[in-house]
Formats: sequence, structure tokens, C-alpha cells
Amino acid sequence: MSNMLPRTLVVRRCSACRDFLYHYRRREESVWVPLFNRYILWTDGKISYCDRIADPELVLCPHCRGLLWVSELECHGKIHGLWQRWEGGGKLACYREPGVRDYTDLLEQGAGSKVKEHYARLALWWARNDARRRPSSKAPGPGFRERTNMTALAELLDEADACHRVVKAELMRELGLLEGARALLATPLDPTLLELAHAIGALVAVGDTRVAEVGTGGGPPGKRLADGPQGAPPAAGCGFTRQG
Ligand SMILES: [Zn+2]
Repeated sequence: MSNMLPRTLVVRRCSACRDFLYHYRRREESVWVPLFNRYILWTDGKISYCDRIADPELVLCPHCRGLLWVSELECHGKIHGLWQRWEGGGKLACYREPGVRDYTDLLEQGAGSKVKEHYARLALWWARNDARRRPSSKAPGPGFRERTNMTALAELLDEADACHRVVKAELMRELGLLEGARALLATPLDPTLLELAHAIGALVAVGDTRVAEVGTGGGPPGKRLADGPQGAPPAAGCGFTRQG
């Protein structure tokens, strides 16, 4: 049995407390289905890995709980093997994922740039949707504050960009604006977006406004669309705004 980790860990230093945190190395844009690694693509564009955002841009320091943009942190090395020891000194722990409150506080203070605001609003949308991802979830649809964030996110999107159009279509579907969603999906799309757009379109057709699973990579299947794609490649990067 290999001692190699399924995904390399990248060690970074917190700019506030100077201790260390690690996260998985970013997936290559085109890589999908490493066996035993269970990625899930959702209609809201979130790709989750072990119930977390697969490649987070914004994390919490596990030591001081400071909110940190990953691309702005110094890289201090990589961990490839299960038994490899960290010898860089200081405390080392896995990052923590921000919650609704962290994203909301950041947006209230001002995220710092349009790109950062885009990501924070996207991650806030995903965080609120997390309560609805289980097929058995009874969580209600978006309330006033959530709809305000979704509308603000939609306004940041550029309909000339095919990826943004699909994300906007999903926002409109979840907001119950089905005609608007249908119109956005009717425009030509890049082939990498077709699986996601098809899944959203199938839900629009039946008037379903809940977030849903599009496909999984590796591991047993979870909730799937009845006629949806199986094990489809993700629209990699869709919904993500890259930092730096
Ligand atoms: Zn810290």
C-alpha cells in the first residue's frame, strides 16, 4: 500500500499569528476522478471534497481564527507522504472552513476588491446551501438576507462569460425566476459547461428550485438527478474567481 497522500498538502504561514496551516494542493483544472477521492459537483457550481469546498480561496487560521486569502500566504513547503513529519517549527494544523458569519462579516466590512467580493458572495451562497444538500433536508428556501446576497452576486456576473451565465442561471433558478434561468441557458455554451447546464435545465423544466448534485468522482453515488449525467467531468473552475 502506498504511503503517498492522495493529494499533496501545501503548508503556509498565517500572516497574523505566524503559525502554520496546511491545505490540499489545488486540483489541476482538467483532473477528475482520482479513485477513492470523492468530489461532488453541485448545481450551484460548488465542487465539494469531504464536505468542504475542494479548492478554497478563503480559509480560517486554525490557531488564531484569522480570515486569510490562501494566495496571499507564504508557502513553506509540501507534504507528500502519510508519515512525513513537518520540521518547519511552530504549530501546524489543517485550515478551518469559514462559516456564514465569517463571510457575512467580511462583506459588511468590504471584501477589498470586486474579485474578492465575488468569491465571498459565492462562498456565502454555498455555505447557506449546505443545509439543503442532503436529499432528506427539510431546510427552507432562501430567506430575505440570503436572497439579497444571491442578487448581489448575480449583479457581479458578466453575461458575456459563458461560465458566469450558467452560474447566473442557477442563481435565478434558486430564486424562483425560472423564465430568466431558461433564457440564460438557451445561449451557446462551452462543451465543458454542458453537463452542468443540462442538470440545471432539467430542474428548471420541472420547476425545482433546490440545489442538487450533478455528479460524483469516485466513491459510491449519492443523490443524483433521475436523468442527469453520471460521473460527468466537472465544469472545472466554474464559479471560482481566481486570486493572484
Ligand atoms: Zn493565525
